[in-house]
Amino acid sequence: MVMARNFDVIIIGAGSTGSTAAYYLAREGFRVLVVDSRGVAQGMTAYSLGLVRSYYTNEDVARMAHYSHEFFMNFGKEFGVEVFTKTGLLVISSNEANMRAVYGMLRRIGARVRLLSSDEIRDLLNAEVSGEFGIYEEDAGYADTGLYTNTVMKRAMELGAEFVLDEARVLIDGYEARGIELMRSHNVLRANYYVLATGVWTPKVLPQLSLPIRNIIERIVRVDTGRSLPNVFDYVNNFYIRPEGSSNALMGLLYPPEDVWQDPDTFNPLAPPPLEYSLDVMERAAKRFRWFEGARLMGGWQGLYDVTPDWMPIIDEPIKKLILCVGLSGHGFKLAPAFALMITEMIKYGEPRTFRNIFTMSRFREGRLIKGIEEKAAF
Ligand SMILES: Cc1cc2nc3c(=O)[nH]c(=O)nc-3n(C[C@H](O)[C@H](O)[C@H](O)COP(=O)(O)OP(=O)(O)OC[C@H]3O[C@@H](n4cnc5c(N)ncnc54)[C@H](O)[C@@H]3O)c2cc1C
Repeated sequence: MVMARNFDVIIIGAGSTGSTAAYYLAREGFRVLVVDSRGVAQGMTAYSLGLVRSYYTNEDVARMAHYSHEFFMNFGKEFGVEVFTKTGLLVISSNEANMRAVYGMLRRIGARVRLLSSDEIRDLLNAEVSGEFGIYEEDAGYADTGLYTNTVMKRAMELGAEFVLDEARVLIDGYEARGIELMRSHNVLRANYYVLATGVWTPKVLPQLSLPIRNIIERIVRVDTGRSLPNVFDYVNNFYIRPEGSSNALMGLLYPPEDVWQDPDTFNPLAPPPLEYSLDVMERAAKRFRWFEGARLMGGWQGLYDVTPDWMPIIDEPIKKLILCVGLSGHGFKLAPAFALMITEMIKYGEPRTFRNIFTMSRFREGRLIKGIEEKAAF
């Protein structure tokens, strides 16, 4: 039941984005209501790999990732609950000049990274390496996405935020958001600001804006490797590995095929990836690790990414009082604390102060897509 009728901010969506924003806003004394039709961490947050790292090849995004990374590393101290597992991350590429440039940028922003030679990669991974370079980020790891999201939401509620299980429709009058309608309880609620954190449902929630968001399938392959590993991003063979416990790994393609599944309500996340997809991912890993031939396929699952033209988020207020934090393109979990800070500053000061907002929608119209050092999306 909704206790108060006057809110400063109503957030739609209680995934990692909306829940973290609720915590940040409640911490600043804002009266916050979060509405979700499924519950806390029941959207794509539930199917995420939860990789957390500072490594990005675009400096603005790397600064946000680094800030968020520290939030995850200090989470236990702040919340009394450990959600983060440190594993390290090794990024492998054959482009020495780019690796040196990324390394220099990451050092400048304070990330603990080392540049590795082929020999050092071979020693670290027991891998086949020749003429390639690595960046090793010691503090990278992964977090339990469900536990994280429920913990920040619980703290937001202890700070006064309210949560209601309902489906929301945004009421827009001309160029201004005027309220939300709760479709199940037939309530209309109003606030000074509305935040949309609806992930892959956004095109359904706001069809009138024709946002450039396609929902793309991301398939996760689960493998028994029989050994523990750091996270590995292999740009030469186009695959990644994220360890799961001490003997399993979760894997996929760094650049997946862009298979669109626009309607999340007809999507089954529990379906395992097609066999040929899983074998393709495993064969790529076997080129890097000879020992991988002994790895066993254990199934997997799939999720949807809400992807924009440059595979980077949209953070904007296209309609007065309506802030969007959507189109997160597979980056959303690890950046949630930075997004939450940005949203809070937009509401408190009228603009973000800590980070540059490079995520406004005008970039698509003006052809200023966000790039990384490799000219591709800033992964
Ligand atoms: C397979 C996979 C792996 C990933 N791996 C990583 C990773 O390793 N690292 C990383 O940083 N990111 C990763 N991501 C991306 C990241 O998990 C997502 O970007 C992030 O979790 C999305 O969170 P969200 O809160 O924006 O959306 P969601 O978690 O999808 O939450 C949106 C919520 O909005 C609610 N909602 C929608 N419409 C309405 C409505 N009308 N009324 C009320 N509620 C509504 C939904 O019920 C849902 O709970 C991955 C994603 C996938 C799919």
